[in-house]
Amino acid sequence: MDCVFCKIANKELESATVYEDDKFIAFNDTNPVAPVHILVIPKKHIPSVNSLEEQDKEMVGELFLIAKQIAKEKELTEKGYRLTFNVGRGAGQTVDHLHLHLLGGEKLPWP
Ligand code: AMP
Ligand code: ZN
Repeated sequence: MDCVFCKIANKELESATVYEDDKFIAFNDTNPVAPVHILVIPKKHIPSVNSLEEQDKEMVGELFLIAKQIAKEKELTEKGYRLTFNVGRGAGQTVDHLHLHLLGGEKLPWP
């Protein structure tokens, strides 16, 4: 499958990895919009939140717990950080493989 995040997950493509286990990988975004900008992904190809099914409940929970752990390692627990899923082109999704953005390191503008 021609998916850039599948290629990162199976090591066809390099990434600056900050976390990895058998089901997930997290790596630095190559076009960061904040001092800390990390993407947490399941290795399994799921196109977006729109594609989630009942059976993915546990995986989604794990994704958030991994993001929380990385935020702690980056000393963002108290400072604050943002977790974002862009869903679909209208929301700016450009890579059709589920990914949770972890953003932090400065006061983030909203929205
Ligand atoms: P989204 O716009 O929500 O689909 O997010 C996709 C993100 O993936 C963007 O922030 C890109 O900068 C990032 N990105 C695209 N290709 C790579 C790559 N090879 N390694 C790391 N980040 C990437
Ligand atoms: Zn993929």
